[in-house]
Amino acid sequence: MSDFPDKTNEMSITPLAKILATGQISHAYLLIGDDVIVLPQAFWFARGLNCEARKTNLEQIGPCESCSSCRKALHGNHSAIHHITAANGKQYISIEQIRAMQQQAYLSHLEGAYQVFLLSARQLRKESANSLLKVLEEPPAQTVFLLYAQKDLDILPTVLSRCQIIRLQEKSVLVRKELLAKASQWLGDFPQLSKDRLLSWGEKWDKDRQGVREFLLAALQCCHSKILKMTKENPSEQVVALIQPWLESAAVLEEVVEALDKNVNQRLLLDVMVLKLKKLLG
Ligand SMILES: [Zn+2]
Repeated sequence: MSDFPDKTNEMSITPLAKILATGQISHAYLLIGDDVIVLPQAFWFARGLNCEARKTNLEQIGPCESCSSCRKALHGNHSAIHHITAANGKQYISIEQIRAMQQQAYLSHLEGAYQVFLLSARQLRKESANSLLKVLEEPPAQTVFLLYAQKDLDILPTVLSRCQIIRLQEKSVLVRKELLAKASQWLGDFPQLSKDRLLSWGEKWDKDRQGVREFLLAALQCCHSKILKMTKENPSEQVVALIQPWLESAAVLEEVVEALDKNVNQRLLLDVMVLKLKKLLG
């Protein structure tokens, strides 16, 4: 087992960040994309699942990167996060490695909320994949398998059918930055904009539920960044009052993101949201 964790910030509108935000964790995912894109995000997700700060602060989406769990993971020595790769000089993960992984998966683990196993689907031969199937069929609680591959073809259909497939694209990095900038600007505009102007905002998203969801997740991250910045930069006796509107705004955004997954009247939901944010932000 080897680790090469990579500290990657600003992941909060990627598909994996959405999963962390909703808290609906499946036991197996197949992450499709180039290793350079997939691995940092997979490790970020694993840290997020185990982050101690997230357990007490439900509004935090990603890992805090500073609690003891995050620090261990960043140093590659978190006992619940495993990256299983072919042994030196070998092309494939051995069946013994898969068996050892299964044993590990069924052991109760003290450190961390989730055991996370990262595996390259490309390095799984048929026998290993079949062996993996057993644990995917009866997954232990609080265990997440993150398989990764460049494309769907790298993996057996039987394994594929038991995984939630997530495509991670390179462009998401650029789109993410752009979206964060737009979301930050949008939040900053609230004091200047009239209610009428704000109410027309929901209109442009009428047929784009996914788009508005991503935008609001970006806005949510902006709120968290502001809260963090204010907490660091102001004397403690002032912090509570300063961050209060941002905490409440984050709660409003989170509620809306959750409601968007359900069959709700989107326009009405967004209209109510902008009015609440207007009250909080100016
Ligand atoms: Zn943490």
